[in-house]
Amino acid sequence: MKAIEVASGVIAFIRPDEGANAGLIRTDEGIVVVDTTSCGADMRALLDAVDVSPAEVCLAINTHLHSDHTWGNQVFDCPILAHRLCRETMEANLEGPWKLADIRISIDERATSDPQWAAEMRKKVEGLEITLPTETFEDRRDLQSGERRIEVIHFGGHTPGSSVVWLPGEKVLFSGDLLFVERYPFIGDADIPDLMSALKRLSQFGAHVIVPGHGPLCGEHEIRALLAYLQGTWERTIDHLALGDTADEAAVDSSYPRYAEGAAERYHERNIRTMFEKLVGGETCPL
Ligand SMILES: [Zn+2]
Repeated sequence: MKAIEVASGVIAFIRPDEGANAGLIRTDEGIVVVDTTSCGADMRALLDAVDVSPAEVCLAINTHLHSDHTWGNQVFDCPILAHRLCRETMEANLEGPWKLADIRISIDERATSDPQWAAEMRKKVEGLEITLPTETFEDRRDLQSGERRIEVIHFGGHTPGSSVVWLPGEKVLFSGDLLFVERYPFIGDADIPDLMSALKRLSQFGAHVIVPGHGPLCGEHEIRALLAYLQGTWERTIDHLALGDTADEAAVDSSYPRYAEGAAERYHERNIRTMFEKLVGGETCPL
């Protein structure tokens, strides 16, 4: 993990592998945290790395509902802000895919066949108390503290309740999972046309630095690269459907655009299949 000061008093926590990034913004009122990682232990480790205690945090913001951005919420006693749809879906998940008793059963069931996944999940759910946002907004929430202005703006796209955090004074943008850099985007909960429109809107901020949801710091070039990948993959999948092809036939088409290399390659095919399902109206997994 790297803690990078991207502007005075603004820190980006850039995390390796598949861990979600997070952020910290110092204000006169206290510290504002952007996203809370996938568990309390990881969130505390980020704060420790910059000598901040949870008691100094006056607000936590969830850019969207996914567990790798919200399951560290329990560390904070302060208000937690998110879009209304983010909170509503988290609340619904508590009675569905986020039922901890069911998650523990599935960890035990997969412990032999996939010990690495089981070990990671055990760490994630140990002591976990899924904590919902306490405050919601509709279109945007503007926060002003001294010279510091923080704008939390609803975007949708990656999930219906996805938001970005924009610091107009410093021109720093926390994009949440609207942006994945050097990794294939997770699009299971995405509305693909909405996501493509959201990326076009993102490039209008004129950000000096963008903290993506996953991967290294980036700029507008990476927005264009992700947009090109999504557009190319979406259009190619529409072509396959028009030809009457199956998802299996589409998945082996080598003319699809590539977006990332190495270990991330395994998500290339997953995204083709996800887009195929979305186009034919199939269901996707909410986790
Ligand atoms: Zn996400």
